[in-house]
Amino acid sequence: MNHPEKNKNNSSARPKTKADLILKTHEFNDIKKTVAILSGKGGVGKSLVTSLIAVMMRRKGYNTGILDADITGPSIPKIFGADHYRPNPDELGIYPVETHNGNKIMSINLLLEKGDDPVIWRGPLISATVKQFWTDVIWGELDYLFFDMPPGTGDVPLTVFQSVPLDGIIIVTSPQDLVSLIVKKAYNMAKSMDIPIIGIIENMSYATCPKCGEMIKIFGESKSEKVAQEMNIPFLGRLPIDPDLAGLCDKGEIEKFNKNYMDECLNTLERKLETVK
Ligand code: ADP
Repeated sequence: MNHPEKNKNNSSARPKTKADLILKTHEFNDIKKTVAILSGKGGVGKSLVTSLIAVMMRRKGYNTGILDADITGPSIPKIFGADHYRPNPDELGIYPVETHNGNKIMSINLLLEKGDDPVIWRGPLISATVKQFWTDVIWGELDYLFFDMPPGTGDVPLTVFQSVPLDGIIIVTSPQDLVSLIVKKAYNMAKSMDIPIIGIIENMSYATCPKCGEMIKIFGESKSEKVAQEMNIPFLGRLPIDPDLAGLCDKGEIEKFNKNYMDECLNTLERKLETVK
């Protein structure tokens, strides 16, 4: 085992390269593409967007999984109505739970005795858990594994960026965000680790008046598309504030989502995902 003190005086010690830090996933896994979904702060709808992407890609026939890396604020199991499911462990590893439509999920919430138990852990333990979701979970064959990241560019995103061979990241913004700051931070972090940015999705862009159908930009004009253009990052699309969508998430029925406003964004995303790497 590597000991930091030992390495200190070892003349052959060399700085770790990116490849040294990448962890192998479980030997039973065949995961074609890994994509992390990031946001600058909580509450912009990152988990919802991650879930929607997985649901829609599953409908298109792909094998999909979601690794809930938001250890202190896990919401994926609830969105899928899977919070009472329990993953099966055996001597080979631990298996994710499977939703109605066959999305595979692993989340700390599925391992806690009670879903509303808080996770009061320090950073290293949280990062170690996320790593184990990659190394010890038997995901099997997946076309896409989506990582729902905690907000910001802290410990966990850094750990995932360093330990997982990511194919790309998607940034979720909202019009009231400090978009350019957030996008620049995520962009610089990803760039320094050679991870491509697949694109930006703006959530809560507008609402539609239920009476007259008028489009209301509640948070004003969007800045996301302009920032994306300036930074040469693809802008994938925008999602409205939709009470039906919030309702489906609350009921754990995201897989029943049947509106088409995500279609164009999804088609662009599918093309981009096919070409990354
Ligand atoms: P984050 O992962 O960024 O913290 P969530 O995905 O948990 O955010 O979303 C926060 C809350 O906002 C949830 O209750 C979710 O249902 C709601 N929400 C997010 N996006 C929308 C939307 N487009 N329309 C309606 N409600 C939304």
